[in-house]
Amino acid sequence: MKAYERLIKYASYPTASCEENACCPSTPAQLDFARALADELRAIGCDEVELDENGYLFAAIPASEGCENAPVLGFIAHMDVSPEVSCENVKTRVLTYEGGDITLNEEKNIVMRAADYPVLAGYVGKTLVVTDGTTLLGADDKAGVAEIITAAERMIGDKSIRHGRIRLGFTPDEEIGRGADLFDVARFGAAFAYTLDGASFGEVDYETFNAAALKVEITGRSIHPGSAKDKMINASLVASEFISLLPALERPEHTCGYEGFYHLTSMEGCVESAKLHFILRDHDAAKLEGRKEYVQRCAVRLNQRYGEGTVALTITDSYRNMKEAILPERHLIDNAYAAVRALGGEPVSSPVRGGTDGSRLSFMGLPCPNLGTGSHNHHGRMEFACAEEMEKCTALVIKLAELYAG
Ligand SMILES: [Zn+2]
Repeated sequence: MKAYERLIKYASYPTASCEENACCPSTPAQLDFARALADELRAIGCDEVELDENGYLFAAIPASEGCENAPVLGFIAHMDVSPEVSCENVKTRVLTYEGGDITLNEEKNIVMRAADYPVLAGYVGKTLVVTDGTTLLGADDKAGVAEIITAAERMIGDKSIRHGRIRLGFTPDEEIGRGADLFDVARFGAAFAYTLDGASFGEVDYETFNAAALKVEITGRSIHPGSAKDKMINASLVASEFISLLPALERPEHTCGYEGFYHLTSMEGCVESAKLHFILRDHDAAKLEGRKEYVQRCAVRLNQRYGEGTVALTITDSYRNMKEAILPERHLIDNAYAAVRALGGEPVSSPVRGGTDGSRLSFMGLPCPNLGTGSHNHHGRMEFACAEEMEKCTALVIKLAELYAG
């Protein structure tokens, strides 16, 4: 079976994670998907297929004969998809890209315009998997899941592929920053691993943001508007004042490369109360601390004006830049580069403007660079995957296993 065929099958599971739910996995569909994957892993002949109560799915491929002493290598992907856009009733379509715009949905006039998505130019003549433009595809990260399982199937089926013991890990709730929370690194038992959670084949990423989440809770004072003079505190307006204190150019839509940001992800409010959610990001840890200090100064300032307790902040660290945990294991980068080149590609490392399960796992004792999956436009309706590129990413998993076999 080809990796893209697996992706199409997996797309039917609506596995969006949900930040509001404290349980793990945060949504039951992730567990349904994990159970189906566990069955599939058993069917292709994996060993030690174990799904724990939190929805973490692990499996193993025993070492080929003579490779028992090779280091245990892990491959990891996440099973949830972004909650930002619907993933219900995903209607996939496979097409050969002939260049130009792609009409995803004639009826609703949803078009992926080549001018808006220059990445498309590299895919003329290739086989693409798209949606009808009303949902995510969920290739982030089901493309990664599909490639790891396809590679596992081939390694098990083809005795000429020499590899050490391989561990496979599939995690829940990555998109809400909790993918590593209950990952049992000791039980996983790999010396190091790769996550498959990037975009293009050839990506070998080991630098990520330092990340924190900020919740702003505002308590207003509601009073009949007719007699509100000098008494009312409108929580929604205090919320908008808070937003206006943040530097307008330090937002995702105005930043790139190593520039960090404050990103308002949701807001709700009435007169009585208001709530804002932000994510704060920076590759530089000291600069992220600076952002945290700045939002605290904003809260102090507003509380001076409107009364103590009007604005309350909760700041939670999400993950750290994994570079410092990965560079001591430089072979992870060198071998990934060698494997990409062996498959005719040119490796590219760039500072990830996001994080992966690997960012946190790297600090939990499992160094984890991130590799591309052959899918693009993640977290949006224009998400697509390329069948040929997914095939290369699958081959990359096998090539790495071979390199570590010694
Ligand atoms: Zn992802």
